[in-house]
Amino acid sequence: MRRHYFLDEYTIIAAERGKRPSDFKHGGTVERSNPKTCPFCPGNEDRTPPAVAVYTDDGVFADGEERVKGWWARSFPNLYPAATPSPGTPTKEWVADFARGYHEVIVESPDHEGNPSSFSRRDLHRLVSVYRDRYIRRISESGVEYVSVFKNWGRVAGASLSHTHSQLIALPVVPPALKVEMDAITSAPRCPYCSFVEREASTERLIFENEKFVLIAPFSSMVPYETWILPKDHVSDLGGIDSRGLAEVLGEALRRLDQLLSGPPYNYMIRQLPDRRYHINIKIQPAISIMAGFEKNTGIFINTVPPEEAARQLREV
Ligand SMILES: [Zn+2]
Ligand SMILES: [Zn+2]
Repeated sequence: MRRHYFLDEYTIIAAERGKRPSDFKHGGTVERSNPKTCPFCPGNEDRTPPAVAVYTDDGVFADGEERVKGWWARSFPNLYPAATPSPGTPTKEWVADFARGYHEVIVESPDHEGNPSSFSRRDLHRLVSVYRDRYIRRISESGVEYVSVFKNWGRVAGASLSHTHSQLIALPVVPPALKVEMDAITSAPRCPYCSFVEREASTERLIFENEKFVLIAPFSSMVPYETWILPKDHVSDLGGIDSRGLAEVLGEALRRLDQLLSGPPYNYMIRQLPDRRYHINIKIQPAISIMAGFEKNTGIFINTVPPEEAARQLREV
């Protein structure tokens, strides 16, 4: 069993179990829909709520009566939100105010068939810039304490539409897991993520690095082929990030995963806080193993691929 030394997470590394033939659903699981009926495709903009931000070569606009065309990304309120600006009146059964916030869908590209693992360098840079822009906008909103930015790719990873998109959920609270993490960070002598980056960069778990970022398979990987992207400098959130450097390493991570596992479904999650003590990190988790009874009962994951082995395969792709 491995325990992350400053996050309260345990993982069991069990390479033997990885030899079972039907463990993984590799490849072929990211199904495509018809672009004619796709609400995220150009020409179908009126099938979504008006966008709050439409990214074009001429600048960033908001949809009015007429929907803005000629975009390379657009962000609009989720039709099925997990958080809304004006929730119903709390009752005594509810946790009052918990779901007050914003839930946006970020369509990352007009290309129905594209996705970030095949994006050009320019498109990846645009994607990171959009994340940064939407994050800065929402975190500065009054009453917003946390902004979760994440991507689900493939149905089994939680995506309900196949056209490439990410989501942003702004919440009026800092999630409990982040609070636990912040407690550990503030009681450590120096930023544990900074120490982590320095140490892991010289181990066999390093997959790729550029001047500003590392891509590693973490020591306590919860799922097979999990990777983390971390800035080498102490940066708290997307507001202070080197977006070109991040675009490059995100592209490397997704391309390598795509090639090694034949286009697997996955999730990535950007964890950040507008607090100088926090160190932004992006966790990428392929959705190729199932969270079953033991994991749900204990919160402890059994990982059949040791991260050292995952890192070796991802380096050699
Ligand atoms: Zn589409
Ligand atoms: Zn740090």
